[in-house]
Amino acid sequence: MSDMMPFIDLAAQRARLKDKLDAAVMRVLDSGAFILGPEVTELEQKLAEFAGAPFGLACANGTDAIVLPLLAMGIGKGDAVFAPSFTFAATAEVVPWTRATPVFVDIDPDTYNMDPESLRAAIEMVKREGKLRPACIIAVDLFGQPADYPVLAEIAREHGMKLISDSAQGFGCTLHGKHPIHWADAQTISFYPAKPLGCYGDGGAVLVKDETVRDLIKSFRVHGEGKARYEYARIGLNSRLDTIQAAILLVKLEAFPEEIELRQAAAARYATGLNGHVKTPKVIEGGLSTWAQYTVEVDDRDAFRPFLAGHGVPTAVYYPIPLHHHEPYAGYPVTPGGLPVTDAAAQRVVSLPMHADILGQDQGRVIAAVRDFFAAQTRT
Ligand SMILES: *Cc1c(COP(=O)(O)O)cnc(C)c1O
Repeated sequence: MSDMMPFIDLAAQRARLKDKLDAAVMRVLDSGAFILGPEVTELEQKLAEFAGAPFGLACANGTDAIVLPLLAMGIGKGDAVFAPSFTFAATAEVVPWTRATPVFVDIDPDTYNMDPESLRAAIEMVKREGKLRPACIIAVDLFGQPADYPVLAEIAREHGMKLISDSAQGFGCTLHGKHPIHWADAQTISFYPAKPLGCYGDGGAVLVKDETVRDLIKSFRVHGEGKARYEYARIGLNSRLDTIQAAILLVKLEAFPEEIELRQAAAARYATGLNGHVKTPKVIEGGLSTWAQYTVEVDDRDAFRPFLAGHGVPTAVYYPIPLHHHEPYAGYPVTPGGLPVTDAAAQRVVSLPMHADILGQDQGRVIAAVRDFFAAQTRT
């Protein structure tokens, strides 16, 4: 049994940025502006600038980051919101919060992102049934890579629908050099610590294009506040970002472009070492992934994972059970023909250690363990 290497090494990043992080946090402690302080405004501007978005707004987490634009766009009862099932619960759970109905769509077998053909079929189904109004698409940048935005945006336009990019895992990803917000009406970000751009607690942000939507989100995130303090124009929620987290994120955002480069190099090393042994990830043409996860596919995952663990290699499965199979989601519509690609992927995917600070030597151990597993299999 070898030492277990980290799956995501937050301590290495902490050591690399320690002095700047410590100073940033201390400045906030001394300032006394703990919630939505000046660092939050600065972060909102820098995030928008980074992604080429007109407006950025911070909030409490990446889940609220999705519900806030839904609310601001007026999505609600009678609306169908199309989302993948092969994603984290947050993508779909926010839809019933607004009293709209999630409709599950299948994915592309190579990118694990929303399959535009499956989306078209789901929209036609909803229109035929005539009970719901196709209102919004939530595309997910799963494992860090951009969804097929040019096509999704075209479908949204054809049907007069909104397009939200759930970029909780993918913030920083681009397609033909452009960020998802180039095509989407809103792009949402999670700063959960293990995400590619993570803070030291919960945090989130949403990028938007429309000024009215921006103003409505600003109101919704502080209880629906109107023009004056303690005057309420709508039913809102409490979704603010702590200033300490914003200060941490300003430091991390500065290091982020270099970290994205380091992640490209790590992904390339895996691809070279693992090709021909397992199904390695395929990024959409013209796409740049932030590699939130490096996810491969194997036939015998239940034997593969303990074998790797025995060689000091931790693994994780995102996601073992697609959302539409969980009891609370089982009653919502799925696209005609169901979600065969989603169901197959859920059986086969397994994610390997991946982070900006991963050592070539550790990746060598991962690659050797994977090869050993298949070599041992052919022997038996
Ligand atoms: C992490 C995640 C979220 C939610 O982010 P939180 O900050 O944990 O609320 C939403 N969607 C996806 C795809 C995620 O991976």
